[in-house]
Amino acid sequence: MSSYPVAHINLAALQHNFQRVKQLAPNSKIMSVIKADAYGHGAIQVAQALHDSDGFAVARLSEGLRLRAAGIQQPIVILEGVNSIADLQTAADNFLSIVFHHASQLELIATVRLTRPLTFCWLMVETGMHRLGLSTDQIEGALNVLNTSPNIIGEAGLMSHFANSDLVGDPRNQQQLDLLMDSAQQYGLETCMANSAAIMSIEASHGDWVRPGIMLYGASPFEDKTAQDLDLKSVMMLKSELIAMHTLQVGDNVGYGGTWIADKPGRIGIVSIGYGDGYSRHLSNVGSVVIHQQKVQVVGRVSMDMIAINLSNVSDVCVGDTVIMWGNDLLTVDDMAVQANTISYELLCQLNERVKREYHHG
Ligand SMILES: *Cc1c(COP(=O)(O)O)cnc(C)c1O
Repeated sequence: MSSYPVAHINLAALQHNFQRVKQLAPNSKIMSVIKADAYGHGAIQVAQALHDSDGFAVARLSEGLRLRAAGIQQPIVILEGVNSIADLQTAADNFLSIVFHHASQLELIATVRLTRPLTFCWLMVETGMHRLGLSTDQIEGALNVLNTSPNIIGEAGLMSHFANSDLVGDPRNQQQLDLLMDSAQQYGLETCMANSAAIMSIEASHGDWVRPGIMLYGASPFEDKTAQDLDLKSVMMLKSELIAMHTLQVGDNVGYGGTWIADKPGRIGIVSIGYGDGYSRHLSNVGSVVIHQQKVQVVGRVSMDMIAINLSNVSDVCVGDTVIMWGNDLLTVDDMAVQANTISYELLCQLNERVKREYHHG
């Protein structure tokens, strides 16, 4: 049975991008970020392919448990931490590392006695994003709790997260970095701050650990630089099949709402992919696809299971031909993100289980 749509995942490209992180931050350990099913690429397969990664980061406990159940051995950090004694115990039982970012979590750890201690924990410091983290004047008290707790072995490192690292040279980046580095120096602790954009543009932020996400998958965090400019290789190629073709007369409407109308005689093709697969409806009338090494437009609205594409200028196409949504030289996921008025992160991680993942090496 042929199954489509399919996302081809190139593990050699993933490993190339991982080597780029190593080149850029040779003195830092690497905590590869594989939350949201490795940005849609499949967290277990990505973790297995990144066997040289010093650790992994996910957002939630459930994501960490899934990786442990699959036999992943490296440290796994739960970026959002946990909020109950039961979850602290589960994390400890599964050798998962916790980010403490809120006073309520410190109260929890101070009141419980886990049957097994946590290791490799982190304290998230608020340096300017106002998402997760304790302010710098709360660090000392928090460290007292963490570093004297029988529930935690070893010292907690200091973590923070840039709000604007995609904006190269933005003065807020330096302010955030200074706040974290000053505290790390004061307490003599390890640091972990740089995401992909900072790995590639703020060398001083590399510290003891870096946390690359999007660059591992071969997309660019910067608006004005392509993945190719950054020597990153696209990991995912998203494909499907042409399942019908139609000739159009002038005035024919295409799709729901008739938002595209033929202004000359032409031909369209119907491709089996839609928002029910996670292909963004924001690509209605603005997306592109590649067929026979030619870039053509998405016409009309994206439906749940299908899109229409303009085949008026493509010859020799047949039903059953392969259509590429992104991930080839002519069309990157970053290009499509611009068209959809979003970021590659969203396009990648919204692909759902209806899209089959196929893994190969180069
Ligand atoms: C998602 C995430 C990252 C990875 O960011 P990229 O921009 O994908 O490199 C790093 N740190 C934290 C806290 C995150 O939430």
